[in-house]
Amino acid sequence: MRHAKKPEQVDAIVVGLGATGATAAKVLSEAGLKVVGFDRGPWLSAQDHYSGDELKYVNRNYLWPDPNLFPRTLRHDETSEAERFPFSPTPQLVGGGTNHWAGWVPRPRESDFMVRSLHGDIEGASLADWPIRYEHLEPYLTKVEWEFGISGIAGADKYEPFRSKAYPSEPLRPTKFGKRFYEACNKMGINGFPIPHAMVTNNHKGRDPFNTTSFWNQYGDPSTARSNTLTTFIPEAVATGNFELRSESFVREITVGKDGKATGVVYIDPDGNEVAQEAKVVVLGLGAIESARLMLMSRSPQFPEGLGNSSGMVGKNATFHEYVFAVGLFDQEIDDPLHGWAGNYISGGTFEFYETDENRGHIGGCLISASQTCHPINWVFPGRPQWGQSLKDADRSYFNFAMKIGAILHDMPVEANRVDLDPTVKDAWGLPVARITHKPHGNDVAMSKWQVDKNAEILQVAGARKTVPVYLDRMTGNTCHQHGTARMGTDPANTVLNEWCQSHDVDNLFVVDGSCFPTSTGVNPTLTMMANAWRVSEYIADVWSKGREEHIKVA
Ligand SMILES: Cc1cc2nc3c(=O)[nH]c(=O)nc-3n(C[C@H](O)[C@H](O)[C@H](O)COP(=O)(O)OP(=O)(O)OC[C@H]3O[C@@H](n4cnc5c(N)ncnc54)[C@H](O)[C@@H]3O)c2cc1C
Repeated sequence: MRHAKKPEQVDAIVVGLGATGATAAKVLSEAGLKVVGFDRGPWLSAQDHYSGDELKYVNRNYLWPDPNLFPRTLRHDETSEAERFPFSPTPQLVGGGTNHWAGWVPRPRESDFMVRSLHGDIEGASLADWPIRYEHLEPYLTKVEWEFGISGIAGADKYEPFRSKAYPSEPLRPTKFGKRFYEACNKMGINGFPIPHAMVTNNHKGRDPFNTTSFWNQYGDPSTARSNTLTTFIPEAVATGNFELRSESFVREITVGKDGKATGVVYIDPDGNEVAQEAKVVVLGLGAIESARLMLMSRSPQFPEGLGNSSGMVGKNATFHEYVFAVGLFDQEIDDPLHGWAGNYISGGTFEFYETDENRGHIGGCLISASQTCHPINWVFPGRPQWGQSLKDADRSYFNFAMKIGAILHDMPVEANRVDLDPTVKDAWGLPVARITHKPHGNDVAMSKWQVDKNAEILQVAGARKTVPVYLDRMTGNTCHQHGTARMGTDPANTVLNEWCQSHDVDNLFVVDGSCFPTSTGVNPTLTMMANAWRVSEYIADVWSKGREEHIKVA
């Protein structure tokens, strides 16, 4: 490896410039800190590089990482052999997952922060309370909704917890399948409402409103109506004059001094040089799989088991939100077309089944919503004929007459479900890849069964002639919601981070992505992650970097 000249020390390094790292870069640089941000991927331009080309985005990995260069491995229990598998892949480029996310951004619930207090010990699970409560996050949920640009109707979700401000933009128009969902909810006494979206529907901070395309989820958006940190927080950080972005720069190690504090990072620059960058504080936002991997790869005499890992908990308790659903097939003889591929990826949703009702046979619950079935090249439904005339007949009958109701599975944390370093498989740099070990808890299986059956019932009330359930089988990582691998909590013996997402072991190391989540919540997590990243970054700038310390006490 060639070595390049060492750049000057800065105040803060942010590794990973996706949803959470870009939030940290904005908040820290706006507070006056000199920040260098690294992303392993390129810095693209939405206008020049993005479009609604289904082959390019969905089938040809334009934004997804190439699994041959950057593999991951998966095993379903400790004793089986791990196999190469693209588990929970997220775009590896500036903007991260927000480059092609669907952008549903519901708020978490008060109960999400105290699952263990509510339920005690559940056999086989490692439930824990968060060291913060909803009220600590609420001001930052509001900041993200307003600064990032979110559309929705405050109060339409009758179960919504306290909010200090309405949304900056009106909700998206309901799709045809969304209207069917609302009709069924009305008949069943369920509170259906438009799920908040990271998309602007009026002019917002110089961005034009939503243009009613259906190419959102998995596609890059050339219009910038969909909120993406590449087109919002990154340019705002750059505009401060305090932020330098180094793209195509792969961070391979966090370095440590004799005093046990982080000194900075070593990264591989676009020319293949190995460069050491020093800083007073290192902030990680690589996503819960890659942040754990980087901490585990950062071994030193002081930290032989990986940085910040004196508890042995780095990588453990990984949770992933498998997406489970039922598909409804309608009758073209009697129904109007549903255009289940059109409009935004999801439409109406409900929190009706979110809080625990033990009559259902499981604890917890999840957000459910009506969603697209797929675009033409990738259109498929379980049981669809595979070949010939019967395939053509099925597509003619159902392409315009299908919809899905899916659930964000609120999976239970289990200590053995984890990310560690694969002992044999290496990436393009010759470094060990992340190995995921995951077996669903019984509660996940029960919740999936109950909720998918309920979704099928809603589809039947909506008029579906046939419903096809897709229950949880194994964790496939079909969502890119990653959490838990560096839990926050008060006890350094069994958690990795304190309530400010600051390493218990290394006081100038902070982890702002979903790694810190003690439990996964049953909602799409990115709004919560970004709000938390904002909260932590404000603490770094206003308290920690001024040599002070504060603590939060929860009852
Ligand atoms: C198709 C799709 C749809 C989604 N829809 C939704 C949704 O509707 N709602 C929702 O809440 N969430 C959604 N998500 C999930 C959402 O994208 C993630 O929760 C979110 O992006 C996580 O933010 P993050 O900052 O932790 O990581 P990311 O946004 O993934 O960013 C991590 C960044 O770190 C960089 N990086 C990784 N390793 C290194 C390294 N060693 N050196 C330097 N840089 C590195 C990566 O290149 C990347 O840019 C979706 C994801 C996908 C893929």
